[in-house]
Amino acid sequence: MQQRVYNFSAGPAVLPEEVIKEAQENLFVLPGVGMSILEISHRSKTFDKIINETRADLKSLLSINDNYDILFLQGGASLQFSMVPLNLMPPKNKADYIITGSWSKKALKEAKRVCAINIVATTESENFSRIPKQEELKLDPDASYVHFTSNNTIYGTEWHKEPETGNVPLVCDASSDILSKKIDANKYGVIYAGAQKNMGPAGTTVVIIRKDLLERCSDSLHSMLNYKIHSENGSLYNTPSAFGIYIIGLVSKWLIKNGGLDTMYKVNKEKADILYKCFDGSNEFFKGHAVPDSRSIMNVTFRLPSEELEKKLIAETTAAGFDGLKGHRSVGGLRASIYNAFPKKGVVELVDFLKTFQSKNS
Ligand SMILES: *Cc1c(COP(=O)(O)O)cnc(C)c1O
Repeated sequence: MQQRVYNFSAGPAVLPEEVIKEAQENLFVLPGVGMSILEISHRSKTFDKIINETRADLKSLLSINDNYDILFLQGGASLQFSMVPLNLMPPKNKADYIITGSWSKKALKEAKRVCAINIVATTESENFSRIPKQEELKLDPDASYVHFTSNNTIYGTEWHKEPETGNVPLVCDASSDILSKKIDANKYGVIYAGAQKNMGPAGTTVVIIRKDLLERCSDSLHSMLNYKIHSENGSLYNTPSAFGIYIIGLVSKWLIKNGGLDTMYKVNKEKADILYKCFDGSNEFFKGHAVPDSRSIMNVTFRLPSEELEKKLIAETTAAGFDGLKGHRSVGGLRASIYNAFPKKGVVELVDFLKTFQSKNS
């Protein structure tokens, strides 16, 4: 099969076709280098240029100033659940966590191993169908940091404005909405994200860290778990995933070429609105999981009147070339993940398909 399907998977997820084609063309030899990105030394001049340009392009896309460093690490976003508390817990040895879904709970589980944790707010009793409001957050002004998950990949909810935390550094797991819109990066102490949703292949984690926070990283930490050591070594303390960083670089250039994050947001919002509008006009045949003001523009979760109809729709969409729409078991139903690289045309075609399905089955 040479034909590409519409890939609605939550992650690893669709990448821009232009990026895949460029990587394919240059996979045998990087132009002028005589070898592949898969074979090149991470200490070579060529790779230096690739990693430095990728860092600079990410900084420019996110309007990040030189008070921040960008690290390219391994171990996924999941290792950050441990690295964040291990590195940032001093000096106060207590941190605030906002719980909005399965990934926040996993972050919480690891942080609890390190120190006392205050749960600032949780929407678990509402099956994580919404994001808490600022007034609901019981923040501790003396906490070492506040951790939140900007987009809840499984439940399909998203923060449309980050929580206000005063002088307490804000730490964000942005794995599933990084680079989907402009954010005010200067409000954050740390932003981390696994690459495989919106940036590149699995195997690289991007960590954006305000440089003054590196002072908190204790020398007693294991070297590979210490942000300061990775920062001092330009993310080359050990062998990085050269291929992963190379693809993140190509994706960054693709974003810049296509108008940057404001344009990306506009398109992402349009794509998500096409789906939500279909649900809202469906007489409750399609029901979104997220309450309207918490809806994600990256992961659109929805249910049908019965599980039987859901199964039928998943089978029919898969057969028609719409892949990966089965929802996560904790929410059920369907989930359309429509990251940056997902084409608007695919969303329009899916909605046509949904409307036809409804008329045949209601
Ligand atoms: C996918 C995901 C993770 C886990 O990422 P890994 O790279 O597999 O560790 C963490 N947080 C969020 C929000 C995610 O979407």
